[in-house]
Amino acid sequence: MAKYTGPACRLCRREGEKLFLKGERCFTAKCAFDRRGYAPGQHGRAFVGRSDRVSDYGRQLRAKQKARRVYGVYERQFRRYYGKALRIRGLTGLNLLQTLEMRLDNVIFRMGYAVNRAEARLMVTHGHFMVNDRRTDIPSLVLKPGDKITVREGSRDTVFFTQLPDFAEKRTIPVWMERDVKTLSGRVLRSPERAEIDGNLNEQLIVEYYSR
Ligand code: SF4
Repeated sequence: MAKYTGPACRLCRREGEKLFLKGERCFTAKCAFDRRGYAPGQHGRAFVGRSDRVSDYGRQLRAKQKARRVYGVYERQFRRYYGKALRIRGLTGLNLLQTLEMRLDNVIFRMGYAVNRAEARLMVTHGHFMVNDRRTDIPSLVLKPGDKITVREGSRDTVFFTQLPDFAEKRTIPVWMERDVKTLSGRVLRSPERAEIDGNLNEQLIVEYYSR
């Protein structure tokens, strides 16, 4: 699937809800969804109030697309995660969400070290983070309980990272991880439970989509 390079706000408008893809802007009056809460495009307004006409397939597709967009994952990789979730014991939908949550870019975002997942991904690809004391540039790396995240020594003196503790301190983190903002580090304690994964996601519909 081609890389999406268009405006992030367009994705929220397509999904019909705020996906909080931008960070601070999402909480201001500049939010595009708050200003134009209908689908993008010439005929976007025509679909307002017609959600009852969406087919089962349409609902399943939207649930899948929404999850992909929230986590910033391409179709091929998302399908691969689904295949992996199928092979793990337990509920496939929950396995899928847990895999997405344990991605390195998501964990950095949840720890409060990035304003959104896109920024977390960029910082990882630029080699600013280490996992278990080893440098990595793979944002899709799926972490395991006990894995430790740190900022690379050479990156700590940059303006961005010297200001990061002040920013991070204002953000609360999920109970399934711990962090130390002074040393810009953190650790994944365990996989999140379903109730600890926020975002209005419907994993059952995603499973139905891939089980057709
Ligand atoms: Fe979505 Fe609003 Fe954030 Fe844009 S500003 S990404 S529309 S929540």
